[in-house]
This record gives sequence, C-alpha cells and structure tokens, in this order.
Amino acid sequence: MDSKGFFGQWGGRYIPEVLYQTFQELQDEYKKARQDPSFWQEYEELMQTYSCRPTPLTYAGNLSEHFGGARIYIKREDLNHTGAHKANNVMGQGLLVKRMGKKRVIAETGAGQHGMATATMAAKFGFDCTVYMGEVDVKRQRPNVFWMEKMGATVVPVQDGSRTLKDAINEAFRDWVTNIDSTHYVFGTACGPAPFPEMVSWFQSIISKEAIEQIQKMHGKLPARIYACVGGGSNAMGAFTHFLDTDTELIGVEAGGLGLDTGKHASRLCGTDASPGVAQGYKTMFLQDDDGQMLETHSVSAGLDYVGVSPILSDLWEKKRVRFEAATDKEVMEALDLTMRLEGIIPALESAHAFVQAFKEAPDLKKDDAIIINMSGRGDKDIFTIAHAFDDPSWKEFIIKRAEEYKS
Ligand SMILES: *Cc1c(COP(=O)(O)O)cnc(C)c1O
Repeated sequence: MDSKGFFGQWGGRYIPEVLYQTFQELQDEYKKARQDPSFWQEYEELMQTYSCRPTPLTYAGNLSEHFGGARIYIKREDLNHTGAHKANNVMGQGLLVKRMGKKRVIAETGAGQHGMATATMAAKFGFDCTVYMGEVDVKRQRPNVFWMEKMGATVVPVQDGSRTLKDAINEAFRDWVTNIDSTHYVFGTACGPAPFPEMVSWFQSIISKEAIEQIQKMHGKLPARIYACVGGGSNAMGAFTHFLDTDTELIGVEAGGLGLDTGKHASRLCGTDASPGVAQGYKTMFLQDDDGQMLETHSVSAGLDYVGVSPILSDLWEKKRVRFEAATDKEVMEALDLTMRLEGIIPALESAHAFVQAFKEAPDLKKDDAIIINMSGRGDKDIFTIAHAFDDPSWKEFIIKRAEEYKS
C-alpha cells in the first residue's frame, strides 16, 4: 500500500471530510499495532484460546485418490469460533478498538455471518453493537438475526435501494459519520477505504502463516496451487499472503451463478461484466452499468454476492499474480455432495466454489504435487439452501410440520 492507500491504481480512500480524522486515527493505531510484536502475540493468544487456532490442515486422502492427481489438503477455517474465517478479522479489530478506547462497534452484514462474528466479539469485549442489514437479508437470514439479538446486538433492517449488503454498508457509514468519537466500524472484508483492505488482509494472513508451515511439515515442500473463494476477498488474501513471494500458483474462485454469459453471477475479475469504478470509498472492479449504478448480482451463496472486490486482488489480477476462475451454482452443489460423502466434511456454499476449481485441476497435476483448498467456513448455516437444492422431500415435510406446530 502506498501512503494514500493505493495498490497500483486500485484502492485509495474516498471518504467524506468529516471522517478524515477518524480514518487517520484508525490508520495510526493499525500502523502502531503492526510495528508492535506484542500486539500480534496478544492476537494469536486470543485466537488460540477463543477460536481454535491454529486450525488444522487436513489431508483429504479419499478425494485425492478419487481424482488421481495432486494430493489435496484442506485448510480448516470452518473450525473457527462462529464457523468461518470471519473471526480472524473481527477479533483483530476488537483488540484495536480496545486500544483506541472506544466502546461501541457497528457492522454491515449480508448473509449475517459477519454480523454474527461482530456480535460475538462485542459480547466478549463488552462493546455496544449495532448491525446494519438489508431488509431482504433480515427476512432471508432469520437464524443469524435471532442469535445476534440474543448476544445483545441491535439489528437494524435497512430499507434503502435493493435492501441488501451494499445498502447496509451505506447505512453503516451514515451511522459512523454521526457517532465518530464513540464508535468503530468493523468492516467485514478486504474492501472499503484504506486502511481496511490492508488491515483486514493482515488479520486474515494468520491463515497462510500457519498453512505455509503446516504444508512443509506434512508434504515436505510448498504446494503447487492454492484455491480460495472470493467474495470481498478476505479469506483469499488470508490464504495467499505468505505465499505471494513463492512459486505457488494462486487461484481465486468467484461466483459464476447461473453462468458467466447469463448476467446472473457475481464475477468481477473473471469474465467481462465488471469495470473500474469508485464506490463505497474505494476504487476497484465493480459490477455496474454505464452510469455507475450497481448491478444486481446472483449466487447460490450469500457470502459471495457482492458488487465490488478487494482492491488488492484487483492489483494482483492486473499483475497476473492471481488467476481468477468462476464456479456455477450447479458445480458447487456437485462438489459439496462429493466432499460430504468422501471426507465427512461439509463446506459452506462459499467455500465449495474453491473446491470446484481444485477438483477440475487436481487430475492434471503430478502425484507428488500438493494443492491447498482454503475452506473458509462450514456449511451447517446453509442447510435451508442445500436441502432445497437437493430437493429433499423429508426435509420439506419437516419444515412444513414445524410451521404447522407454530401456528397451533
Ligand atoms: C463471508 C464469507 C465469504 C466471503 O468473504 P471473503 O471476504 O471473500 O472471504 C466466504 N466464505 C464464507 C464461509 C463466508 O462466511
């Protein structure tokens, strides 16, 4: 990152003047933390005792044998507290908030996973917590809203625009502008104005810091390739960071939805539907129309359904250091099915995108090559979508029965 927050031509900090001082303060605190080894030590201790770190690297022997090519390893971010890599980011920011002496946190959330993680962190640290969530998502993600409220957070349904994630982000910024002194905005992914992209990536880099040691111990050399799904880009940056200076090939997998040629997807760096733009405080490749209005995205996984992408990934894409691919909804279900049956592991719908691409390429790699799939989260949260997609009649019956019980 340069002094103005750019990675090549991407990123920056496009914010209203009232937020300048707050961002400066955040940037200073973040820089201080980075230069202070005791901060990272405190962070690692917290993650070890609260979030099961280091997460295992699992050798997927049955999948490897099934494809007959590279040895497949899975980095198990699903075993974090709250079930995904998001804990890495929110707990790190929580420690920074403590240092800044603030007592209130706000967050945006789409599927509700980041809201859940933030509500959890706020409960642990004793912060007030408000989560902004599009009204459409509030309705779709009832279980997460329930738990956030039970942990003491206030969930505010946002009525603007398409009433989804991007509208929740805008509303969270509005809150921040009016409550600057008391409040920190816990941004959920490696996007937004500087220093968020770099700071979030730094916390997430704990993934590759562990993985690079684990793979050398288990496999004796570096992996040929690493696969990670890309929503905003935080789990991908986490999985890639410590491998950037190696020969390992890095592959980001975006949501192909119903197919790249249907317009119903969320692929920004793969395909041709995105273009450079400035929105939500930063410059990146956005899915937008000619007037800069954001397009509707589609994906079976709520967590990959975002119009922008990390400016750091836009830079790595432009430099051709990271290759981008897309997985369709249908391919995702097939990969999920296979992984459950052969390994007893249930990836989140988001994570399953990375599995799709790894499965396509594994057969063509050498038997003494290793590949790592970053499994960003667990699929338990997706039971409604997955059961629906597999068209399971007994599940349908269960849901209808439950509904009837509630009515009586
Ligand atoms: C939120 C989420 C993602 C997408 O976010 P990134 O910032 O791209 O990592 C991916 N997987 C899971 C399980 C998530 O919860």
